[in-house]
Amino acid sequence: MIEQLHQVASIIASARNLVAFTGSGISAESGIPTFRDPGGLWDRYDPDKLGSDGVATLGKITEEGRAFFREMVDTLERARPNPGHLALAELERMGILSSVITQNIDNLHWEAGNTTVIEVHGNLYRLRCLTCGRTFKLKKGEDLPAMVQRLAEINEQDSLELAQLMPKCRCGGMTRFDVVHFGEPVQDFPQAEHAAQTCGVMLAVGTSGVVTPAALLPGYAKGAGAKVIEINATGSYFPQIADFSIVEKAGEALPRIVAAVREILG
Ligand code: NAD
Repeated sequence: MIEQLHQVASIIASARNLVAFTGSGISAESGIPTFRDPGGLWDRYDPDKLGSDGVATLGKITEEGRAFFREMVDTLERARPNPGHLALAELERMGILSSVITQNIDNLHWEAGNTTVIEVHGNLYRLRCLTCGRTFKLKKGEDLPAMVQRLAEINEQDSLELAQLMPKCRCGGMTRFDVVHFGEPVQDFPQAEHAAQTCGVMLAVGTSGVVTPAALLPGYAKGAGAKVIEINATGSYFPQIADFSIVEKAGEALPRIVAAVREILG
């Protein structure tokens, strides 16, 4: 294990261009359940149902949709970057990591300090105007809790459409969360593909590789000649592609790798 970590650190230390590709596992240690965690958000709510009933669209919010929204906001508002996110930000500051491609919508890579984050599934802290297309950021600690508060104030019997809850754009247009729902096209995929195909090393962290097209990115990196290093708490999900598979929590493995890279670089 220690031997493998040092091999990985020396590959990263001499990387021409390191790109990280992250999934919900990197945020698990920040208290956000992964997609398939038993008992987690996604296990208790049917995302497909919510997608068509209101959270995804601007239609009527069901009782289940309200409960899901409250719990999701509560979870995201409490979450802070963990040592795994912070290690990736440190690799960027060291001039090694050029970008993070993430499937997460939780904003934590930005909060950790990374400055090039390609969010293929969007960001829940961003709204998009349906009229002019402008996007704008929401303030953590303010905007989403205010929406939850407004939901609570409305009589449960009232029919509430999500459109009534969403802030209006300055052009007067209606807005929606700038996240990718089931069946919608991913965001910024050409940039993600380019980053994958031009990197020297890809670090695939905390992803089970089942959600496509994002899951294709490690294969694109490998096909273009990059080394692929996988970090996952429960096993290897890219056995045909990964040159190294570190089976460990991201928040433990990544800081140790960064410390070893520092040592190698002196
Ligand atoms: P996934 O749930 O399919 O896989 C998560 C993987 O992370 C699992 O293989 C698991 O073994 C691993 N893991 C769990 N804890 C870990 C840890 N501490 N360190 C390292 N690995 C750990 O998630 P996915 O592959 O990202 O796909 C699910 C989809 O759900 C994504 O598209 C994402 O958009 C969405 N999602 C996002 C969030 C978020 O924004 N934080 C949370 C849940 C789901």
